[in-house]
Amino acid sequence: MPELPEVQTTVNGVKRYVAGLKIRAAWTDYKSRFHAGKDNIQDPRYFRSFRRRVIGAKITGASRRGKNVLIHLSNSFIILVHMKMTGHLLYGAYKKAGATWAAIGPGPLRDDPFNRYIHLVLSLSNGKSLVLSDLRKFAKVTLIETARIDASLHISEHGPEPLEKSFGPEELRAALSRRPNAPIKSALMDHRLVSGIGNIYSDEILWRVGIHPLTRVQTIPEKIWPAISRVMKETLRKGIDFGGDSMSDYRDILGGSGRFQSTHNAYRRTGERCRKRGCGGTIRRLVIGSRSAHFCDKHQKLIK
Ligand SMILES: [Zn+2]
Repeated sequence: MPELPEVQTTVNGVKRYVAGLKIRAAWTDYKSRFHAGKDNIQDPRYFRSFRRRVIGAKITGASRRGKNVLIHLSNSFIILVHMKMTGHLLYGAYKKAGATWAAIGPGPLRDDPFNRYIHLVLSLSNGKSLVLSDLRKFAKVTLIETARIDASLHISEHGPEPLEKSFGPEELRAALSRRPNAPIKSALMDHRLVSGIGNIYSDEILWRVGIHPLTRVQTIPEKIWPAISRVMKETLRKGIDFGGDSMSDYRDILGGSGRFQSTHNAYRRTGERCRKRGCGGTIRRLVIGSRSAHFCDKHQKLIK
């Protein structure tokens, strides 16, 4: 699932390529009975009102909240996109092809199979389109009044943003200590405590800071929190610098792959030797709260 760095990479792409363009048309083939009555374009009825509101609006910019992409419109609405498991926004030249849409011309939009599951198309004033590729069809797309965005239930439960300057070691410790008995791995991934961190980045943060994922939040000594905070910010920024992580489905807005997966030290390296110099440990996998944790059995210490 896309995490903070992947979502930020997409937001940066929307700002760079799509801002300033108008939405001319909107198409979807999402149709989910599970979403009936919900404010999600997966409900065809909701999509009809969504389409009425977005057509003619100009895209003025984009921002991120947690794992949500917020596409700002000139008509005082925001399109909120949560890419969930396999969704990612793409931008390029598309044409209708039978029951679905296809990218025109060579390149990753056409040639990378992960980019071919088009379920939403916003046709733009320059003839190109902003589309959503979503293999497993779990994505959430909804429309919210700009003035109500912070109070919206899609956003209001989110904890603080980890890359905010004002969010330092004290704030991180206070946030995660709302679940004092939780394993640090689960606390880092709980978006009500801190926003945007999932399986990949929590594994990499804990590997770098040398803490076993099962360590309970309240047992972590005060003197270690500055290191956790620093490593958390460095790891997330590195993810953004590398254009996100494309080990799974994520692609950037032009359909290209990020490169963070080439830097993994823990995530999905089960059975491999630890890359920390002189460590000699092995990466192990453990299920914590139904999620996989990957960690070094030697240098990541369980604090009791
Ligand atoms: Zn190690």
